[in-house]
Amino acid sequence: MSSGGGAGLYLHVPFCSAVCPYCDFAVVPADASRSARYVQALLTELALLGEEELSFDTIYFGGGTPSALSRADLESILAAARRSLAVEDDAWLALEANPEDVDAAALEGWRGLGVNMLSLGVQSFQAEELRFLGRRHSAAEGERAVREALTAGFDIVSVDLIFGLPGQEPENLRDSIRRLAELDPQHVSCYQLTVHEGTPFHRRRQQGRLLELGESSQGELFELVHSELEAAGYSAYEVSNFAKTEDARSLHNQKYWDHSSYLGAGLAAHSFSGRRRWWNEPDLERYCSRLERGERPLAGGEELDSSELALEAVMLGLRRSRGLDLDRLRADYGLNLLERNAAIIESYVEDGLAVVDGRLRLTPRGLAVADAVVRSLDLDPA
Ligand code: SF4
Repeated sequence: MSSGGGAGLYLHVPFCSAVCPYCDFAVVPADASRSARYVQALLTELALLGEEELSFDTIYFGGGTPSALSRADLESILAAARRSLAVEDDAWLALEANPEDVDAAALEGWRGLGVNMLSLGVQSFQAEELRFLGRRHSAAEGERAVREALTAGFDIVSVDLIFGLPGQEPENLRDSIRRLAELDPQHVSCYQLTVHEGTPFHRRRQQGRLLELGESSQGELFELVHSELEAAGYSAYEVSNFAKTEDARSLHNQKYWDHSSYLGAGLAAHSFSGRRRWWNEPDLERYCSRLERGERPLAGGEELDSSELALEAVMLGLRRSRGLDLDRLRADYGLNLLERNAAIIESYVEDGLAVVDGRLRLTPRGLAVADAVVRSLDLDPA
């Protein structure tokens, strides 16, 4: 399999059987005719991407719910990508799936496509929490899906969990993590619930019907996630991502954190290369109709300057266990981070939040407050 030095290709599938009340991804409720039209549009978009000079060694089907598409649709999308773009023969392939879509036939189909990493949107093993999150599967279905996926023999089965729900008891979170650890998937992604503007949760919060957990409870749950997963043999290679071994890390996601090039195809998909970022039309009707006219569905783009890129590099680098490459930061963006922030970084080291050893790394305690650490730093390259 490829070593992960090329670009990543992201393929967006925007359909979900129902839209979860916390979701702010580009998603729409699934229906057969919409989905057929979308797949055609995506195939056209891929055909129009032929002039790209990048070569790809990872492909990620994300959503939405890629598992909502048939194997034939997924296969034709992959074939179209391979026809238009320089995709390595042994490109690493990931696919997101919801537990309710997992059965023997689906697993066999995804294995047949060459999926290396199957990422399951389990989110919790507590009935009450799954109901609150608007999920369509039960805790037992989540467990069954993970078990069957592991038996099917993917290189990596990844399980997504969400923590920090309003009123969440540490005991319930601990129980979910322990049930997950018993299943023993190779990879775990554990994200804190965020209330995004425009979502039903946001409206409930504005009406006073959803009370978020306070900062100290969030911090306590964050530490619980890290200590429980670590005790179960998972190491955090990024603040929200845990793997049993180095081989079980997501090759594709590491490209986002590295500032490597990636190309996104599909509704609202984002792309990045060099200093340039661009993105697709987020409206499904416009996305499809522009492609039906033979037009690329671009909605915008920007050229990032050194200080914007440096800020991103610091934010992304400090969320990773390997930390931030200080030499690369200086060489790429002219920012000598240690010199500009000597006193504050020294105080973080003294307080056990950070370590400097050629790189700048946050300790587990530092990771819990990573965003505040980034905000406190002077990132002006001048
Ligand atoms: S399943 Fe995932 S992508 Fe679909 S609505 Fe729920 S959170 Fe969003």
